[in-house]
Amino acid sequence: MIAARVSAVRERIARAAARAGRRPEEVRLLAVSKTQPPEAVREAFAAGLLDFGENRVQEAQAKIAALEDLRAHGVKWHLVGHLQDNKARRAVALFDSIHSVDDQGLAGRLDQIGADLGRPVHALIEVDLAGETSKHGLPEAELLKALEGLRERAFLSLEGLMCLPPFDEDPERSRPFFRRLRLLRDQASAGGLLRGRELSMGMSHDLEVAVEEGASVVRVGSAIFGERP
Ligand SMILES: *Cc1c(COP(=O)(O)O)cnc(C)c1O
Repeated sequence: MIAARVSAVRERIARAAARAGRRPEEVRLLAVSKTQPPEAVREAFAAGLLDFGENRVQEAQAKIAALEDLRAHGVKWHLVGHLQDNKARRAVALFDSIHSVDDQGLAGRLDQIGADLGRPVHALIEVDLAGETSKHGLPEAELLKALEGLRERAFLSLEGLMCLPPFDEDPERSRPFFRRLRLLRDQASAGGLLRGRELSMGMSHDLEVAVEEGASVVRVGSAIFGERP
């Protein structure tokens, strides 16, 4: 069941990449396994997936522990949900990458934790492009200044940007947001403010549009695991 859904998603990515003149290998498929049991993750792993995303530290802790053996096979864990300061240390221990760094204070804290551990902390900055104050994300207008402020943070490895546009059934509605995130990434990269060029954007309903607009990683839950309980 999951294997069939994974191939269908890969097919969608490949077709969108072809339309945009991109190679499908340029797009990583991150399976968002929140609310799904460890067995579902094993099934997705058996179908060839190596990147998994969780949105809550607490839930991920037990799941990742139950699946610890998969790390030796190259499985990587990504935090895609809001991170509270007081859980930052646990998150760094659990996750290979944090996509949802949404304020400068948290970014500074992650850098300090990296310094304590003597290793880089891989992170993406989540940008709020819609001015949705009820949601998480660094306001677009503050992005470049915040990145400037993080320039000297040697242990915070800023791999790129992430966004979560307002949900709309029509995937075309996501396009302007994805396009803006790509332009912001280009601008930040040109200014030497990012170490990587990751663009984490696109979910089950709008992944084609994200791939067309340059996503390097799409975060897909329900199209792989089915509707969440
Ligand atoms: C749940 C979630 C996804 C995946 O959503 P689907 O619509 O199930 O593909 C992607 N990104 C984030 C941040 C999420 O919380």
